[in-house]
Amino acid sequence: MLSPNSTIGIVGGGQLGRMSAAAAARLGFRTHILSDIPDPPASQVASMTTVGAYDDPNILTQFANAVDVITFEFENISATGMDILSAIRPVYPSGQILRISQDRILEKTFLKEHNIPTTSWMVVNQLSDGQKAAEKLQYPFILKTTRLGYDGKGQAVINSNDDFVHAFGTLKPHPLIAEKRVLFSCEVSVMVARNPQGAISTFDTTENKHKDGILDLSFAPARICKEQQSKAQKLAIKIAESLNLIGILGVEMFIDQNGMILVNEIAPRPHNSGHWTMDACPIDQFEMHIRAVANLPLPPAIRHSDAVMKNLIGPKTMEVWPQILNTPGLIGHLYGKDHAKIGRKMGHVNILFPYNSLPGEFGVSSILQTI
Ligand code: ADP
Ligand code: MG
Repeated sequence: MLSPNSTIGIVGGGQLGRMSAAAAARLGFRTHILSDIPDPPASQVASMTTVGAYDDPNILTQFANAVDVITFEFENISATGMDILSAIRPVYPSGQILRISQDRILEKTFLKEHNIPTTSWMVVNQLSDGQKAAEKLQYPFILKTTRLGYDGKGQAVINSNDDFVHAFGTLKPHPLIAEKRVLFSCEVSVMVARNPQGAISTFDTTENKHKDGILDLSFAPARICKEQQSKAQKLAIKIAESLNLIGILGVEMFIDQNGMILVNEIAPRPHNSGHWTMDACPIDQFEMHIRAVANLPLPPAIRHSDAVMKNLIGPKTMEVWPQILNTPGLIGHLYGKDHAKIGRKMGHVNILFPYNSLPGEFGVSSILQTI
């Protein structure tokens, strides 16, 4: 067990690092942020920050030597960078997990090897693969970059060979991955944490609604039957165990029109769709993550209320913030970001409901109409 007052190094300075650092502080740990920009959201609540490039060996060495254990909230550290860090201190989750989750082809291959269902897919290397993809996956299919995609960026819906040629030219770097489009009845996700003893804690299955490729609303529990909820949790546990996870992992899934659960992607860190846990669970995803990384006991992920999370995105956030503060029942969280650019996640709002009284979208939008 990591002893109180030890320092947890967090690679990345965004909101996930900020909320992890706050959870670490509650447990008596210090945090040290590694960020490539000065004064990022996480640094405002951490003990120390090292500012420098994520691929600078000197910076990585200096950072690793200053902490007791390392985790990350930023997924795009290079394999070489991870090797430097893990030669000096334990890094959780491991570099191996990070490598798999950074690359959609490795990710889908891993899932296939473990008999975890996904939508059909194929690697796209050259222009002539457009025709093969159309035959195998049917139009419309989705063409994605294998690396660095987020919030729906780095992907295109392909309806014709012309679309394919255009997207093949603009999506970089190659190879790309083509995926059969899932006509999903809903999207869900599960947060699963595992500590070095192999103890596992799994939060309730969450239902996610996206707008313009960005998560807009999460409902907990997902408005699907109990069997489906627990099937999704079991899949997440199987993935965590197969990866030998230490830390927390978000698993995004589709439920197709036949009720099949297909895994979309995995993220070995706290996840936006787990933000409802901050107010609806005695121990939230961030504390569960820190407990796992610090080798503390993992209690069951209990949820005491139903919950809806609404993301606060872009410049409008600061206009509505006073109303959020003034509306009973809305629990607001801000991330301390200065520049409210379009599409930028500035904060989120949680709304709690008594057990078994989660409203539908209309009920939620009427509560949220003031914002
Ligand atoms: P990101 O890394 O941007 O989150 P995702 O692969 O999760 O990338 O895609 C973002 C969103 O796009 C998904 O949450 C889903 O709504 C939609 N999407 C992605 N892949 C598919 C697919 N194969 N079929 C249907 N919708 C998809
Ligand atoms: Mg996603």
